[in-house]
Amino acid sequence: MSVAESSAADVLHARVLAASGDGVLRQLAELHRPHPDDTIAGGGMPTCLGCDVDGPTSADPVWPCRTYTLLARAVLGVQDVEALFLSLRHR
Ligand SMILES: [Zn+2]
Repeated sequence: MSVAESSAADVLHARVLAASGDGVLRQLAELHRPHPDDTIAGGGMPTCLGCDVDGPTSADPVWPCRTYTLLARAVLGVQDVEALFLSLRHR
């Protein structure tokens, strides 16, 4: 299950990077990239490496985070990024 989930994140992330150009959008996408490791709590969802965590006891932010969702929506022209991600997970 972890393999399919991380590859779905990789696929979506690659699409966003490819559509982001070379400017600040790409920098934001690279900052908020998915955690490549699958040893994550929270039902096996990938976590965001770019979001700040409130404190040491806070849960890791789930990826795609709100920033990444906004970005992906803009560069991919997709309204529902979460649905796209879920569809990639369940290929
Ligand atoms: Zn983030």
